[in-house]
Amino acid sequence: MTFVIRHLTLFRSIRSIRSISNLFKMLPKSIQNLIDELHKLPSIGPKSAERLAFYMLYRSEEANNELADAVAKLKGEIITCETCGTFTEKSPCQICESKERDKTQLCVVEDPLDMIALEKTGQYKGLYHVLGGVLSPDDGIGPDDLKISELKNRAKADLVEEIILATNPTMEGETTAMYVQRELKALKRTSGRALRITRIARGLPVGGDLEYADEITIARAMEGRREY
Ligand code: ZN
Repeated sequence: MTFVIRHLTLFRSIRSIRSISNLFKMLPKSIQNLIDELHKLPSIGPKSAERLAFYMLYRSEEANNELADAVAKLKGEIITCETCGTFTEKSPCQICESKERDKTQLCVVEDPLDMIALEKTGQYKGLYHVLGGVLSPDDGIGPDDLKISELKNRAKADLVEEIILATNPTMEGETTAMYVQRELKALKRTSGRALRITRIARGLPVGGDLEYADEITIARAMEGRREY
């Protein structure tokens, strides 16, 4: 009996998969094209792509045109800041050009999103340097593919006193931080610059629980402890 029920369920699910694929064949090409394009975006699965496409179908043409216009203009209006490497509408960017920022500090990040995350805290008042990724031999990304020589040129500037390495605490992020640190130490030796090279602290997330944290996170939280 169980055998029969199991096969009946299987038969029904195959039938429903067939009916879904038939439905896709029935969709007008323009809707299917939009679903395919949305599905290419990160974090958008096939179901979300369908939902978004149908949402756009129901909303006003004006709202859809605003979205299409924003996407179309994106590449044309965004450039890379020639100083720090972030995305901007004019170079140098607002942060590089600001007189309010502390020009003695340079925070090295992987990409512009990390820079935005740090800016949101409102705590950091120095300048940034966007590397444009991390070292990853498996993906063929070496030092020349990142903005490391540009960082060294900036580090030579008289105003810079501290370089904060804020790459992510991933394997590639750590490797990149170590590589950059070695390069900057060599620069210190040859140029005689008194640079301070620091690494952001790692530890437990807010709301986290010691009991559930892994050993490396706990060990790093202990290393990064400070006067209280
Ligand atoms: Zn900039």
